[in-house]
Amino acid sequence: MPELSVDALLALDRQHVWHPYGPMPGRQEPLVVESASGVRLRLADGSGELVDGMSSWWSAIHGYNHPVLNEAAHEQLARMSHVMFGGLTHEPAVRLAKLLVDIAPDGLEHVFLADSGSVSVEVAVKMCLQYWRSLGRPAKRRLLTWRGGYHGDTWQPMSVCDPEGGMHELWQGVLPRQVFTEAPPAAYEESYAEQLRAAVERHADELAAVIVEPVVQGAGGMRFHSPAYLRVLREVCDAHDVLLVFDEIATGFGRTGALFAADHAAVTPDVMCVGKALTGGYMTMAATLCTPRVAEGISRGEVPVLAHGPTFMGNPLAAAVACASVELLLGQDWQAEVKRIETGLREGLAPAASVPGVREVRVLGAIGVVQLDHEVDMAAATRAAVREGVWLRPFRDLVYTMPPYVTGEADLARITRAVCAAAREG
Ligand code: PMP
Repeated sequence: MPELSVDALLALDRQHVWHPYGPMPGRQEPLVVESASGVRLRLADGSGELVDGMSSWWSAIHGYNHPVLNEAAHEQLARMSHVMFGGLTHEPAVRLAKLLVDIAPDGLEHVFLADSGSVSVEVAVKMCLQYWRSLGRPAKRRLLTWRGGYHGDTWQPMSVCDPEGGMHELWQGVLPRQVFTEAPPAAYEESYAEQLRAAVERHADELAAVIVEPVVQGAGGMRFHSPAYLRVLREVCDAHDVLLVFDEIATGFGRTGALFAADHAAVTPDVMCVGKALTGGYMTMAATLCTPRVAEGISRGEVPVLAHGPTFMGNPLAAAVACASVELLLGQDWQAEVKRIETGLREGLAPAASVPGVREVRVLGAIGVVQLDHEVDMAAATRAAVREGVWLRPFRDLVYTMPPYVTGEADLARITRAVCAAAREG
């Protein structure tokens, strides 16, 4: 039973708690969630439930309070919730690594288990820089990416987020200086592919890697692009001795209609990051996968180890739930479920195209986006969605949804109605 009344809880929240991307404590009024089950969040103020249109930021693909994931957590909890991973290993981590290698694009064989998406990107960057350093080419230490990207909130990931108008603009000039090309157009354009090739070629001597979100740029603008650009990147990176990193933290585990977005192009990167839906949104865990070429390169160096090992790497509880979540996904016809969500989003969001102020409506897999021609009024748009009984988190010029794959027809219709209402009123 909750110990605090909603009012007392909110008073303490206002006093002490700093929320993600929030102003200082006290300047924000969050909703209090009491519990979550299926696709619904139950509010503590007695006002009822909201259908979750966000999957808790791409992650809760199976919904909340899932019996299979609960059981995996309980079983593992009874055995061991955490143990240091340096010098020790355990079944959940080993099973998870094997599962990931089996389903990842061919050639990714080694797995570092991290505790958040941002950290998995830090690890990816370290791997690439260390690889070239080990091969006696330390000048290759910059990263190339396209604009409009988002890779996390720690230092190296921030340096490859969109540098303008993005979330980390404040830090330009302080962050490591990376190489940016234009954001990729939605459709394949040979002239843009040429731009990409030329940029990689021009900077090859100083580039450790190209890092991109494949097919969907998420928090940097919810834009989609042709998978053909991934093949262009693979070719140009191979031709000029540059590693290729795919950040599949948002796109992984079926969200775009393929298990990994890289599968749309049948391209294997040298390094790949996954997170978010890895544990079905239950626990904080992410992973960085790499090829034997990268691992063997690192081990040839003066320092032959990957020097990364914060306390909670390889957490067994998170790994056990991740195994259960991935197996749950693979054990069902997830393609059909994502397709069903895609169809529902296309039908339900179509009316938004004629709402004044809407620039574009786009849908891919279980992702639906309404882009406005103006900055959204976040409070008004959120209120409109809540009035429809749905939780959304509009930002910048975007109202968007990525529902859990288990969302039923009626709830999906509710979500699309809420997106349309938020677009109208935001
Ligand atoms: N990369 C991408 C593509 C993401 O969408 C995110 C999270 N929004 C991250 C990295 C960072 O992951 P985390 O929030 O788990 O640190």
